[in-house]
Order: sequence, then structure tokens, then C-alpha cells
Amino acid sequence: MNMVALATVARIAPTRGICRRFSSKARNGPTNAVKGMKDRFGDESQRFQLITEKGVRVASLYGYEQISTPILENSRVFERTLGEDSDVVGKELYSFVDKGGDRLTMRPEGTAGITRALIGQHLYHDLPQKYYYFGPMFRHERQQKGRLRQFEQFGIELFGQNHASSDVEVIELASLFLSSLGLKNVTLEINSLGNNASRQIYKEALRHYLAKHEDGLSKDSLNRLSTNPLRILDSKAPQDIEILENCPVLSDYLSVPSQQRFSFITETLAQLNIPFTVNPRLVRGLDYYQDTVFEFKVASSELGPQQGTVLAGGRYDGLVEKMGGIAGVPSIGWAAGMERLSLLLNDQDVPPKTRPVVVIPIPEQNHFSADTLPPSTMALHSHAFVISSALRKQGVKVEFMHLTGTKAQTQKQFARADKMNASHAVLIGSEEMNSGVVTLKCLDSRTEKHCSVDQLLEELGAKSTKKVIE
Ligand code: ATP
Ligand code: MG
Repeated sequence: MNMVALATVARIAPTRGICRRFSSKARNGPTNAVKGMKDRFGDESQRFQLITEKGVRVASLYGYEQISTPILENSRVFERTLGEDSDVVGKELYSFVDKGGDRLTMRPEGTAGITRALIGQHLYHDLPQKYYYFGPMFRHERQQKGRLRQFEQFGIELFGQNHASSDVEVIELASLFLSSLGLKNVTLEINSLGNNASRQIYKEALRHYLAKHEDGLSKDSLNRLSTNPLRILDSKAPQDIEILENCPVLSDYLSVPSQQRFSFITETLAQLNIPFTVNPRLVRGLDYYQDTVFEFKVASSELGPQQGTVLAGGRYDGLVEKMGGIAGVPSIGWAAGMERLSLLLNDQDVPPKTRPVVVIPIPEQNHFSADTLPPSTMALHSHAFVISSALRKQGVKVEFMHLTGTKAQTQKQFARADKMNASHAVLIGSEEMNSGVVTLKCLDSRTEKHCSVDQLLEELGAKSTKKVIE
């Protein structure tokens, strides 16, 4: 081998080693979810299901119906509406160009897509429209407890009503939703951003005040001083919070109609016994809000200092027009973070799983292979399977114990039944099959009795609350 060839081998060899290691990893594939995104199953899935069910139930009481819009939207749906200098648009969007050259964004929130649908589907011809929605949202944020890159929201949108009582109604709906989940220690903060004219005057006053303190402001806030000083009120940087303590307050700049509107809302909330505090610095992070804004919060100790808000919303009367629809369609809505709600749920508020009935075929023969069941065992297996199917049609939750091998496994199946917290076992041997009966064993009292298949269906079916087929 000449020197050149040797040098070539020396250069290639280590690279090949790395390639081999890498390719075996690539072949096996990554087993972790993408950072900031989570696999959900078991108890957590049950909590999400409960949150959704409660949300749907409460929203239905107010006449809301479900809307589902796509996860992917044209990027302009969000860029134009949420505000180019908002955190969400500025830093957090998952956007890409697809194979057809379209610029798409994975939705970071629900309102813009639903408003796009309202316009595109001409739903605004028949107002009011009331929708609830739930599903995943995507924001490229720093992962923390209760702050993920894929998270779920349950939310509502009301289009076509602008009386202050409709603001109270959506806040009341939110409050009832949170109470239905058994959440205590949630406090409502509310504020009025006023109309555009009064907000412009306030913006100037705030800019003037903050300009005097610009040396102490965080970098983000300094950038926003010229573009959108209102957003600085939403800053979570400690140095900004200190400076904001003595800043001018928006309520001093509200127009008379805005003041009257806000008074109506606070007085009615008091009459409804919904406790709240007015937080004059509450502005919300997105551009489209005006007049009423609100947040339901828990103490910072429960979810971490920056994840205390579990549900937030406000009024956005100009949004439909801004997105290309007709003028004069008022709208208001809120969204709740389902991961945060799930972290706060108490175990006792999550309903226990329905206890199953186990159906166990008991073959006479002790030993057989699961692949080649003797004919009598096959017949028994099918018979028990048919009974399981009939029970399920009666609305009974059934775990059928598929035969897997030796009789010793029948014993294991009893242990499995206990582990599943089964309420009853239905035991079926060949003799029982031939005389059309089963042994029904109550696993709590450990008592057992023989009964016909019809009696079994009647007795267990009567305990089920919902028949699958009437
Ligand atoms: P935050 O101030 O916590 O960043 P936000 O003002 O950006 O919240 P909204 O856009 O108002 O949030 O969304 C409504 C709710 O959705 C929030 O109150 C929160 O409960 C939840 N939420 C928002 N972002 C996330 C996230 N990254 N992970 C989990 N939940 C979230
Ligand atoms: Mg945020």
C-alpha cells in the first residue's frame, strides 16, 4: 500500500465507524418525543377526557356547538392578526414552506383559524354564532412545567353580540367550567383596554413614562417601547415588573362608554357571586384585544411563577374585519390550557374507571398449545366469546380472557381480574356450556351462583347505565 492510500484509509476509517454507529441508531429510530411535546396515555388521558367532557357539557348549556378547524393554516392567518411583534408571532410560530410552495403555520391558538372559517364559510350571515373547540396548539417556547411546545386548549368563541352582558356570560361560562372541574383557589382578574381612541392616548402616556426608565428595561421591552409599549405591561421580566409598578394606569384614560361598559360587567359579576379583582395592568399578549380582557389564575406556587394563568380571553370586535370579513361583527372568547388544568385536578375529581366483568373460559384439558386448541376447547372458547359480545351490547364493560395455553393460566387470569379491579367473573366450563348456564362470581363478596345466559345478560345489563344497541 503506498503512502497516499494509507493516508486515505486513515482519514476514512474513523468516519466509517461513526457512520456505522449513526446508521444503526437511525435504523432503530428515535424513541423520545420531540422536545416540548409529550406522549399522553393512562391517567393523564383520562384527565384530558374529563376536562373535555366538562367543557363540552358547560358550553352546551349556553348554546355553543363544536367547531374544528385544521391544524395547518396559511401563515398569514396568524401573522396579520396576532401582531407581528407579539411573542407568539415574533418567536414561537412553527412555520414552513410545503412541497407546493405554500407558507403554512401550525396553529398557535384557535381564534384566528375559527375567524378565518367564519368568514370563508359565510357563517357571519347568521349571527350570533357560538362555538367551542379543543385540540393541540403549537408554540416554540422554553419547556417548563405547564408550558409545552405542543399543548392543548379548550376554548369558546362568540360572534355577533356586543352587549356587555355577553362579556359577563362568557366569563360566567369560564367560571362554571373551572368550578365543574372542582378547581378551587382560582382567581379571576379582569381589566378594560377601552376602545382604540382611548388606548392610543394611553399608549403615549405609557411611552412617555417608560422612556424615562429605559435604561432599566429588559431588551425585549426596550424594542417594544417604540413599536407597542402596551405589550410591555405583559412582560414577565423582573426588572420590567419593578418599573411598571408606578406607571400610568389605563383605567384613567377610558372613554365614558368604555367606563360604563366595564362598570356593568363588574357589577353583574358581583351580583352573580363570581369573585374577581380588577388588574389595571392586565393587557394580554395578542394584538386583537379591546375593551374586556380577563385571566383566571392559580397561585404561582402551584404551576410555577410564570404558568399561573389557566384560562384567558377577551373581546376582539375588529378581528373579523381585519381578517377580510365584513365590518361590525363583534366577537369575544377565551381559551384554557388543558395541561395546566390537568396538573391541578385532584384525584377525587377524576371519576374512577368503570369496573369490568371478566369472562373466563375454563377448558377441561390441562395442557394444550394456544395455536392448536382441541375441538372441545375451541367450541368453549367461541361460546364464551359470544357471551362476552352479548354482554358488551348490553353496555357491560367486558374483559374476555383469551385462552393462551395451560390450565395453570386460568389461575393467572383470576390474578389479572383482581388487578383490573373486576366486579364479577363469568366462568364457563364445558359442562356449563352444554347445559346453557354460567357461573357468576361476585369478586367483592366471593360468592357465586349458577344462572342461565339470559339471566346473566339481564342481571349485569341492568347494572349498566347505557346500552350500546337499544
Ligand atoms: P402565557 O402568558 O402563560 O404564555 P399566553 O398569554 O401566551 O399564556 P394564551 O395565548 O392566552 O396564553 O392561551 C390561553 C391559555 O393557554 C393560557 O392561559 C395557558 O393556560 C395555555 N397556554 C398558553 N401557552 C401554553 C404553552 N406553551 N403550554 C401550555 N399551555 C399554554
Ligand atoms: Mg405565551
